[in-house]
Amino acid sequence: MRTLHVYSGGLDSTVLLSHLIKEKHEVRCLSFSYGSKHNEKERMAANLVSTHWFDVPLYQMDIDLSMFKSALLQGQEEVPNGYYTDDNQKKTVVPFRNGIMLAYAAGLCESIGFDDITIGAHAGDHAIYPDCRAAFIDPMSEAIYRGTYKNIVLRAPFLNLSKTEIVKIGAEIKAPMDISWSCYKGGDLHCGECGACQERKEAFKDAGVRDFTIYMG
Ligand SMILES: [Zn+2]
Repeated sequence: MRTLHVYSGGLDSTVLLSHLIKEKHEVRCLSFSYGSKHNEKERMAANLVSTHWFDVPLYQMDIDLSMFKSALLQGQEEVPNGYYTDDNQKKTVVPFRNGIMLAYAAGLCESIGFDDITIGAHAGDHAIYPDCRAAFIDPMSEAIYRGTYKNIVLRAPFLNLSKTEIVKIGAEIKAPMDISWSCYKGGDLHCGECGACQERKEAFKDAGVRDFTIYMG
């Protein structure tokens, strides 16, 4: 299977990338710079894991979402601290981000003659992100299948897994989770207090897997 993997450099998509490689997929990764506060750190992690760790080609696409409203984007309000399911975390949603990224992925996948697209959306995303739920992923999958000559298939194999379950899988297959990046604030180290950091910390703890991430708080 020739798979185009939508890769943020985050924990979930790093474990999924490791899984695809273990399952002998021919993989190429696609990452996006869209003006988020943590884009530079994400890009570094994506490059480190795909290019250097796995020796897998990485496409990096720049897209301009600067007119969108989100605390995740540069120049907009501060990323709120809090638990990742808290209502204030909705401020970090980038409207329809997965829809936009998957549309680009579909076009690139068809262009390079690959068979399927993978994305690491998981159950922990469901509370806040409407475009991470099955109710979105399923019809998007249908749209990509119908809208391409190759009938490209979209797969989100972690859609019903918790982040804790993903960390357990990652530990089992020795995914390079330690060099993935989660923090929304994009500082030198993980802040330890934003929703993404809280979720990351909790997942390692609940999975009983040692977390080598260095947190500021
Ligand atoms: Zn953080």
